[in-house]
Amino acid sequence: MSGDVAANLATVRNKIGEAAERSGRTAEAVRLVLVTKTVAAERVRQAVRAGQIDLGENKVQEGRRKADGLAGETIRWSMIGHLQSNKVKDVLRFAAEVQSLDRLSLATALEKRLQHLGQGLDVLVQVNTSNEASKYGLAPDEVPAFLKALQAFDALRPRGFMTLARFTPDVAEVRRCFRVLRSIRDKAVLDAPQGAALAGLSMGMSGDYEVAIEEGATIVRVGQAVFGPRPLPDSYYWPDLAMTAGGS
Ligand SMILES: *Cc1c(COP(=O)(O)O)cnc(C)c1O
Repeated sequence: MSGDVAANLATVRNKIGEAAERSGRTAEAVRLVLVTKTVAAERVRQAVRAGQIDLGENKVQEGRRKADGLAGETIRWSMIGHLQSNKVKDVLRFAAEVQSLDRLSLATALEKRLQHLGQGLDVLVQVNTSNEASKYGLAPDEVPAFLKALQAFDALRPRGFMTLARFTPDVAEVRRCFRVLRSIRDKAVLDAPQGAALAGLSMGMSGDYEVAIEEGATIVRVGQAVFGPRPLPDSYYWPDLAMTAGGS
């Protein structure tokens, strides 16, 4: 990896294309959400100028600030981190998608604000596929009832599922997490009221996005492979992670 954002982005895009081919798909079947947390707006702008439209932020305040700093650019922001219900108003000021929908109280808060704004919102249901107590997300067996309940929320457009794999160098275990999410998706497309609209699978980060694509990811969330290592440990972004997996 070089310090050149555009070059790193091109490298990641190539690898996405190659992994997509290995899974019998084309590069267009996979959406790259470039994760910009901790990265200054001016470095993010280099990626945007290189044609990157989809950006993701983990925290609401930082996302808002960065969206303001990049106003005027063509960007579609995704919220990918844990979202408190009292931050809903702020997240809807910049995000076009929330990938971390993990409870009905959040759906209720989003719906209320969206009705007020007269808007809809793409959402992904976050699932805890690693069975770690520290991870946010629904347990796999909670998903069918959750999808049924989501029908009552007119402004929310469920588009599929998101997960964080277990933080481990054990690729087989990471792959297992991705397969769990994929099988949840496959079942939901057949059985859930939203049907084929739920085809989205957001899984894979800098260390494992190629594996995720091989397992069917339609969205990957990649930051460090483009921008370089973050100054703060991942435990800062995923509270309690340090206790369970040691972060990285
Ligand atoms: C930070 C983050 C990513 C990207 O991680 P990288 O190691 O920078 O690729 C993906 N998903 C979520 C939810 C994140 O917070």
